[in-house]
Amino acid sequence: MGEPVAFRCVSCGREYEPWSVDYTCPRCGPRAGTLEVIYDYKSLGRRLTPASFAETRRPSLWRYEELLPTGVEHAVSLRAGWTPTYACRTLAAELGLSALWVKDDSLNPTASYKDRATAVAVAAARKLGREACSCASTGNAATSLAGFCASAGIPCHIFVPKDAPKPKVAQLIAFGALVFAVDGTYDQAFDLCSEASARFGWYNRSAAINPMNVEGKKTGALELWEQLEGKIPDYVLVPVGDGSVISGIAKGFSELVWLGLAERTPKVYGVQASGAAAIAHAFQRHLRGDPILPADEPAETLADSIKVGKPRDVVKAVRYVAATGGGFVTVEDEEILAAGQALPRRIGVFAEPAAAAAYAGLLSLLRSGVIPEGATAAVFITGSGLKDPEGVLRGLPGPTVIPPELQAVERALSQ
Ligand SMILES: *Cc1c(COP(=O)(O)O)cnc(C)c1O
Ligand SMILES: [Zn+2]
Repeated sequence: MGEPVAFRCVSCGREYEPWSVDYTCPRCGPRAGTLEVIYDYKSLGRRLTPASFAETRRPSLWRYEELLPTGVEHAVSLRAGWTPTYACRTLAAELGLSALWVKDDSLNPTASYKDRATAVAVAAARKLGREACSCASTGNAATSLAGFCASAGIPCHIFVPKDAPKPKVAQLIAFGALVFAVDGTYDQAFDLCSEASARFGWYNRSAAINPMNVEGKKTGALELWEQLEGKIPDYVLVPVGDGSVISGIAKGFSELVWLGLAERTPKVYGVQASGAAAIAHAFQRHLRGDPILPADEPAETLADSIKVGKPRDVVKAVRYVAATGGGFVTVEDEEILAAGQALPRRIGVFAEPAAAAAYAGLLSLLRSGVIPEGATAAVFITGSGLKDPEGVLRGLPGPTVIPPELQAVERALSQ
């Protein structure tokens, strides 16, 4: 397993002994002081080769154990990661791309990208001997934690906004979590979870404040690289709410460069809903030379998983994305809806609205010419359409009801 050499504050740069701090830098606080897990890349780079990951033969993110803070011996049996990457040739040609890949993370055990973070966070809880976990979430991180806690056999305490989509709440109940449906926003649920976790001693997996999350989330980038046999796409599109998924993906690509396993990173682009675009705005301010500060804006979008007004991983997301030469793009809800309906029809992948936003962002960047013709691109599908079917299919007609007669089929076909 890869021994981290430090947990480093992303704002003040102060380094902490690994595992001496659970969450954020005590000096910079929970909003600005998120921690980065640092490894000895030089010595790992001498040891790790593309073959060394394959040799583990693990069809899960634990094939990258050497680059993770905890070892596979702490992992629960649910399998996260090693999701398929599909080459979409027809669609690529139509869009003028020379290649388009879709990484389908709806195929994780609880059907979202969040399982990557949870797998590592719950392994860390077991390593640290913590006996209960907690999480605030718009839905997917919570259902993910509930599933992994069930697999670990430990109690799970969940704080979700009371308007979270029903299928996500159904998963929570199925996995036996103790659910607090907070009559408030996600941002309020988040703060309440932090207070309750401190009070009752739960290991808190909430986005960004737990440094294990980004470590799990970086494995999507490592897999894409391995599955494309070392090819690095020119552009990678990621939907963004709190900024933790994109921080992980950008860190994963950067680590490949630091390890000498890749020559460059892709340009990583974050996609936000135009009604919930706090990180995109922070990125614009950063480009003008302003300091990166925690943001707090109203949030409104049909894509519930990225409906975040007070994002918790602003500093990492802005800094890591800038380091890849990428940026941010915002899309309207109508574009998200159209993308969510086009994806399953065109490539057979049913994505929830937040995940479809990444594809909407690709279309927007192609239209504006930011992504040039002939480029290669990859889109991360971060959650399943079954998580929120009503949200995705809004406006589409249902099937026509017919009597059980062949003539009725004939009639319907001729219409
Ligand atoms: C959480 C989530 C995102 C965004 O991740 P952040 O870390 O909040 O930026 C995107 N898509 C889906 C499906 C998610 O569940
Ligand atoms: Zn600090």
